[in-house]
Amino acid sequence: MDMSRLSDLRTAEVAPVRHLIDGASCGASDGAEMDVISPLDGRVLTTMAKGTRDDATRAVAAARAAFEDRRWAGRAPAERKKVLLKWADLIEANALDLAVLGVRDNGTEIGMALKAEPLSAAATIRYYAEAIDKIAGEVAPTADGILGLVHREPAGVVAAIVPWNFPLMIGAWKLGPALAAGCSVVLKPAETASLTLVRIAELALDAGLPPGVLNVVCGEGAVVGDALAHSMDVDVLVFTGSGPTGRRLLEASARSNMKRVYLELGGKSPNVVFADAPDLREAAKVSAAGIFRNAGQVCVAGSRVLVERSIDEEFTTLLAEVAQGMKVGDPLDPATNAGAVNSLRQLQQNLAFVEEARGQGRTVLGGRRIHEDTGGYYMEPTIVTGVDPSDRIAQEEVFGPVLAVMPFDTEEEAVALANGTDFGLAAAVWTSDLSRAHRMVRRIRAGVVHVNTYGGTDLTVPLGGVKQSGNGHDKSLHAFDKYLDLKTAWIKLEP
Ligand code: ADP
Repeated sequence: MDMSRLSDLRTAEVAPVRHLIDGASCGASDGAEMDVISPLDGRVLTTMAKGTRDDATRAVAAARAAFEDRRWAGRAPAERKKVLLKWADLIEANALDLAVLGVRDNGTEIGMALKAEPLSAAATIRYYAEAIDKIAGEVAPTADGILGLVHREPAGVVAAIVPWNFPLMIGAWKLGPALAAGCSVVLKPAETASLTLVRIAELALDAGLPPGVLNVVCGEGAVVGDALAHSMDVDVLVFTGSGPTGRRLLEASARSNMKRVYLELGGKSPNVVFADAPDLREAAKVSAAGIFRNAGQVCVAGSRVLVERSIDEEFTTLLAEVAQGMKVGDPLDPATNAGAVNSLRQLQQNLAFVEEARGQGRTVLGGRRIHEDTGGYYMEPTIVTGVDPSDRIAQEEVFGPVLAVMPFDTEEEAVALANGTDFGLAAAVWTSDLSRAHRMVRRIRAGVVHVNTYGGTDLTVPLGGVKQSGNGHDKSLHAFDKYLDLKTAWIKLEP
């Protein structure tokens, strides 16, 4: 990839961002716009259509029309596959432009953004495109005289509400399987990370996706997102974001048409380090990356380290060394390890968590805003020790570069601490004892438990939470379950 274009791209003008509804770029119905602030310098990057409830309704109507006339679902699977593969190629061909645009919008360090955003989105769309003509229904084992067929049919109109930490990656986790299944989609990006999603939706049109099949409505969650959640014409609502918003979406479903709601929410993921971990230095390095990369704005971030007491001091020192050696700052510098916090609001929220811990007498390493002269939103990697399991910092998701460290004495206690929050998204166990590793995998309640690593994954495995981390799965073929309905045909055969 020609990284020499980075400096041109970082200062390139960004045209005002508009909705994409029924294949056409358009502004808000009342003409309203909102500023897009870059977290790199706190300045206005561009403006964006501030969607109205009418815009959301119009987008749902376009998606409904596209679904009912079968302009997409009715096409041969091989044709749909061709369109989606072309779309993936276009995203890949524009990867650097998309990555830099996304970084200027949301602050993720460029190295991670490239891999995790356009390139990951392209890979995801390809994965589901390739699955289109391999997913078949079933013939049921009925008695003679009956033919029982189980069809898998597209679920209809999908509303996808996505967050700002990895808009393309998470967006593609929804769009890939939804579009491959033949659904039509209305996508609502986050206020502070919309630019790249609008751009890839335009690329989908270039790839041959019929107008109306993928619509994007920009604007505020409380307006556009709320309108989609309350729509009587959305069949499935898929969401990644915060717990409080997830709760609102469930309520909205109950108050409207009881649309199916799939939530991927937060976590307070435990990273359990036993004294017999194969390599403590490596464990510290990977654990630090697991919480501090992308300024901690990762739903599966390992935000709690539970460490066996005999190595508590040694491991905390190693963690501190790694944290202090991390380069935090300009996310468009390829040497940066952790970029900007996405918004001033998020930065203030992070700092408030740390202040509260300090006020409770906890020991805080880091914890300050840095590079304030740039106008950007940067925060030191922060380690809080002496934490009590009941502290807010041990129970609630900060969604920032803040790690809470707690010691334990026994495996039993480690399990209790690991499971002692409302969440169940991710976890890790570091140990050389194979039996202990398997015991812990079984006993920790989470969607994924890593062993002797943190955060590795690929498309072949599902991602989803238990408890208040949500329901349903992104990634893997299991993701299709959200977008394909089962329908039985029960046919009486003449003897
Ligand atoms: P965060 O607080 O980290 O920004 P949110 O859950 O608020 O997380 O945001 C995730 C997504 O949910 C964003 O696209 C946002 O616009 C949307 N959203 C926020 N509030 C609502 C709401 N009341 N109804 C529907 N969507 C919402």
